[in-house]
Amino acid sequence: MKILVINAGSSSLKYQLYDMTTEAVLAKGLVERIGMDSSILNHEPTGGQEISEVSEILEHTTAIRKVLDMLVHKEHGVLQSVDEIQAVGHRVVHGGEAFKGSAIVTQEAKSEIRRLFDLAPLHNPACMMGISAAEINMPNVPQVVVFDTAFHQTMPEKAYLYAIPRVLYKKYRVRRYGFHGTSHYYVSQKAAEFLNRPLEDLKIITCHIGNGGSLTAIQNGESVDTSMGLTPLEGLMMGTRSGDLDPAVVPFVMNKEDLTINEVNSMLNKHSGLLAISGVSSDMRDITDGMAAGEPNSTLAFEMYEYRLRKYIGSYAAAMNGVDVIVFTAGVGENSVVVRQRVCENLSYLGVDVDEALNAVRSREPRRISTANSKVEVLVIPTNEELVIARDTFRLVQEQNSTNS
Ligand code: AMP
Repeated sequence: MKILVINAGSSSLKYQLYDMTTEAVLAKGLVERIGMDSSILNHEPTGGQEISEVSEILEHTTAIRKVLDMLVHKEHGVLQSVDEIQAVGHRVVHGGEAFKGSAIVTQEAKSEIRRLFDLAPLHNPACMMGISAAEINMPNVPQVVVFDTAFHQTMPEKAYLYAIPRVLYKKYRVRRYGFHGTSHYYVSQKAAEFLNRPLEDLKIITCHIGNGGSLTAIQNGESVDTSMGLTPLEGLMMGTRSGDLDPAVVPFVMNKEDLTINEVNSMLNKHSGLLAISGVSSDMRDITDGMAAGEPNSTLAFEMYEYRLRKYIGSYAAAMNGVDVIVFTAGVGENSVVVRQRVCENLSYLGVDVDEALNAVRSREPRRISTANSKVEVLVIPTNEELVIARDTFRLVQEQNSTNS
């Protein structure tokens, strides 16, 4: 079965085409600047030549049509016909409490995703545009939705409730949801596989640190706590997001600076984090370069980032009464030798001991960076959210086919 995985943003659309007989990626790509001038489609057939095409792409329906045209292109395509695509899997950011796992797209599922626009005003409408665009272009192909929040639905009440009047949870479902769930799920499974130990026996802390970042405490293979909350703003210091701060900062700053809700939201989401402290960049590569050059603001940004990350690891070790495995993943976690090194050298009280040479290895394979003496296994595992989406889509469509036949 060939499955197209789609990750739609407000002005972008990422895709990967899988052949599920081997789980091979046949092609992948990205459409950027949808709705702006000079939209770009970057297409990469596996083993073939990467191609970029600039054209006018005003909305997601055209973007998907262009992608489908590219997939059957006589030179750069990988399919004879679009009909070979038997299912589409969509990444959806917020599944609220309604979706505890992935789901086939039905009218009811779409209504539920729309009801969640309130909770994810930047993300869910874009995901919905991707779903509608795929339905228009491939009306007879089953569609599946896979949620960033679903893996965290196992959190207990004590972890997901905020200590604010209960009525706000009852009326508006204000609570911790958590994000990056497909990534935390994938790397925790991979960690158990790599260590050749039952997932159920392990207390794992997964650190998904990229442009956005979140940590998850995983026990019995289930998320028991995670650092992002109602929205992806809570928790770690990130590229441009503040992470945790005293909520009283918000009304104080709004009052002093005469800011609107949108302005303060934008400040905390887009103009904070590494970018705000370094004054230079939200990209960890620039921060570590600045630090190596002795630049004080980049050094401070790095130190705050590492300190906050380490405090979260400590708190999740406390939450689970121990930790067997720490996993680093995503852009920073997979690539930044110095972030891993500095975090781990400050976790010696937990018995963490990282091997400098192993930590310096660059690879796309899952690997161990802790020494044989370390009380905690420290692993680097490249994440693969698209593969989780493709697998869930495959499973749900097969289940549906077998109940229909
Ligand atoms: P992601 O959101 O997972 O795609 O991660 C993107 C982020 O990873 C970038 O903004 C960088 O901060 C970080 N990153 C990527 N490559 C490196 C690297 N070699 N060293 C440090 N950070 C990196």
